[in-house]
Amino acid sequence: MTEQLIIALDQGTTSSRAVLFNHAADIVDVSQQEFTQHYPKSGWVEHDANEIWDTQFMVLQKLVANNQLRPQDIAAIGITNQRETTVVWNKNTGQPVHNAIVWQDRRTAAKCDAITAAGWKEKILEKTGLVIDAYFSASKVQWILDNVEGARAQADAGELLFGTVDTWVIWKLTEGAVHATDPSNAARTMLLNINTGEWDQELLDLFTVPASMLPQVRDSSGDFGSVSFQGQDVAIAGVAGDQQAALFGQTCFAKGMAKNTYGTGCFLLMNTGAERIDSESGLLSTIAWSIDGKITYALEGSVFIAGAAVQWLRDELEFIQTASESEALALEANPESDVVVVPAFAGLGAPHWDMYARGAIFGLTRDSGRPEIAKATLQSLAYQIFDVLKAMESDSGIELSQLNVDGGAIANDFLAQFQADVLQKPVTRPKVLESTALGAAYLAGLKVGYWQMKDLTKVREVEREFKPKLSIEKVAALLKQWHKAVARSRQWIDADE
Ligand code: ADP
Repeated sequence: MTEQLIIALDQGTTSSRAVLFNHAADIVDVSQQEFTQHYPKSGWVEHDANEIWDTQFMVLQKLVANNQLRPQDIAAIGITNQRETTVVWNKNTGQPVHNAIVWQDRRTAAKCDAITAAGWKEKILEKTGLVIDAYFSASKVQWILDNVEGARAQADAGELLFGTVDTWVIWKLTEGAVHATDPSNAARTMLLNINTGEWDQELLDLFTVPASMLPQVRDSSGDFGSVSFQGQDVAIAGVAGDQQAALFGQTCFAKGMAKNTYGTGCFLLMNTGAERIDSESGLLSTIAWSIDGKITYALEGSVFIAGAAVQWLRDELEFIQTASESEALALEANPESDVVVVPAFAGLGAPHWDMYARGAIFGLTRDSGRPEIAKATLQSLAYQIFDVLKAMESDSGIELSQLNVDGGAIANDFLAQFQADVLQKPVTRPKVLESTALGAAYLAGLKVGYWQMKDLTKVREVEREFKPKLSIEKVAALLKQWHKAVARSRQWIDADE
């Protein structure tokens, strides 16, 4: 092999992937492995951090073997990852002290309520850009330190390390030499001051997290050490949380550009440039990336359950055997059906922010069956994005002319068409749906000089554009039903459940 290539490691919520890119930014090969989701209690979601690492390393090895890669064939490695998910491990043994607590996990909701009640809302928003919620890492780290026997004492003795999944993977890849993260991941912990890009002592005290546990924050396109491979070093040169990486991969480099990713959850992000924009409607201000010490900010709307609702159709309801079968099933639905699914399985994220909402099916009649519920489930993804997009347009004062999309679930044509209908805007689907991995590859390639910024403006190849077909009146009627259903699913469980 003569041309050098870039490897992106994409550690997602449901699977670990390794993706090989060439200089034209085309995918050469992908290797992927799903891993186990643990649900120890209602509202709790865990991953085994060792299984995260094992699957991630396995797909890397498989990619290397399948493509007969030698160290000199790899220009650099980039990492992108599920965000907020919290790992705490012992730096001497390398063993996690508890399963990773996943971003969807709600166990610390009451703790977050107490912090809000104690008057921290404004201060936390000002420092972190975030809404106080169990979603972010801070309360998860605290939970581990307070609930795992001996953890607090070990942490105080400087023996424990904290990391989001990027940090854990970097630490494993470098065999413990590098304990670092990037600002796009650090911004999701609720421990980072996004105005300065530094850890915040007042927040560390609030969540009782010793500073000795924290990773170093380095530029997203930066030096994260190296992987020793066949006796040679391969640089880890780019790191970003999955949604920010997707924004970068969709080449949303200019202020006002936005993308939506349909994965396990849905994430709409808009580049807001060198300034943070604060939301009036429940969106988050976050760090998109930092390059050459310069921070770029983003406005973000996070929807917790999107593709995960399709997994629910597959795994719990057993309506389908594969996620893609949801499309054919939805098309069988009675067009007159008024079924609405609110997939608030983990509460509701932006712009509603209700930790106590739960999932619900409304409008069932005697003839409602699998197709009607499947269709309503797919529609719920599009409705949730409608709500977030309206909030974002109002906060930024920028009206999007179209929606750039990516992620596994938008391969579904029914969903893509319905999204265009609900938004009354075109939905453009790129050829490469792996924008997340591409973003990590770009960040790494930039750092090692494999690409220059101007190379990355390669025209985003559109595979298909979906234009709105439903009438505005019909859409208004559907949205009215959706909002009625959302209102009724709110505050379903009591705060102490
Ligand atoms: P993540 O990176 O969060 O693991 P992906 O981008 O790989 O997610 O997308 C996988 C998600 O998309 C899963 O939740 C799956 O149920 C859903 N999905 C995949 N293909 C389809 C499809 N054709 N129709 C609907 N949902 C799909």
